[in-house]
Amino acid sequence: MKINRISVYHKALPLKDPYWLSGGRLKFEVLDATFIKLETDSGLVGWGEGTPWGHTYVPAHGPGIRAGLETLSTAIIGQDPRKLDLVERAMDSCLPGHLYVKQPVDMACWDILGQSCDLSISDLLGGKRDTGTPAASSVSSGEPDYMMGIINAYRDRGYVAHSAKVGGSDTAKDIERIRHIESNKRDGEIILYDVNRAWTRREASIVMNSVADLGVTFEQPGETLDDIAQIRNVTTSPISVDESLVTLQDATRVAREGLADVFGIKLNRVGGLTKARRMRDVALAHGIQMFIMATGGSVMADTEAAHLAQSIPDAFIKACWSCQDMLTVDIAPGSGPRCIDGFITVDDTPGLGVVPDEALLGDPVAVYQ
Ligand code: MG
Repeated sequence: MKINRISVYHKALPLKDPYWLSGGRLKFEVLDATFIKLETDSGLVGWGEGTPWGHTYVPAHGPGIRAGLETLSTAIIGQDPRKLDLVERAMDSCLPGHLYVKQPVDMACWDILGQSCDLSISDLLGGKRDTGTPAASSVSSGEPDYMMGIINAYRDRGYVAHSAKVGGSDTAKDIERIRHIESNKRDGEIILYDVNRAWTRREASIVMNSVADLGVTFEQPGETLDDIAQIRNVTTSPISVDESLVTLQDATRVAREGLADVFGIKLNRVGGLTKARRMRDVALAHGIQMFIMATGGSVMADTEAAHLAQSIPDAFIKACWSCQDMLTVDIAPGSGPRCIDGFITVDDTPGLGVVPDEALLGDPVAVYQ
């Protein structure tokens, strides 16, 4: 089987509400999504989506995916999409780095592999749990009451997991946010305080030590792994590493040096399922729990993450994400897993299990063959 055609689509995915990260430092209103269709000489077709969370969150750029695909196309055409590591090596050889460009290609290859052997991606990843994965809300940063209002709206839809965005130079405000939300926490809820790199080492130690009695988990409380290692030395709260978890070498360093208790694996950032499953296995081998998420995007990106999440034992998976619910557009009406009562559950449909409505994507912006 060989890939013989790549069609690339560009779609703007507006958010229902403006979204702020890091104490209001970064604002997001529209996501720049790239969809790709891989066709093969066997007639099987695979779909991928790459949607960074804007271009200020991590080093990823929506237009950069489409530019990178032009460069990668010669390395991809002619590959057997079922041979995932060979496709990975061909892409890494053609264009070192640029993991966010490669993830949608990898996703489409997994889709084709699953269809070719009549297994869902989560079963290809080793076999899925019968139960779905809790979806975490993503709570925009703001005043404590504003943030509780968002959490309450998600609770009404069955959500039991929440990622509340904190971070910024106003440490007193962050302490107020955390104490207010924790005082309203319900039994069984999972609440993660996501700093998104917005604290200095000093700010991290002030806030984390001020609320150490609560035992809450902080995600990415510093810019780099060196920062987090230092923060780890002077604090006791559990830590999740997210933006600094990019390569397998990052994962092994975090595990070996004990820098974090939780991995936040986002598929577009780490280059797709082929690379992410290795991080999953490092986490499982070291007693590290995981949040598995798309970086952003439609039901297709959510589904890719949901497959990996559902391949992880209950004791190790914290939550996934339903970014699709934050968008004004749905590119695959009636297709794919949706967030129901706060959980996303993939089924036995071979491959990815979701196909976009091509009419909603418009004409391809590039075709390589
Ligand atoms: Mg995060």
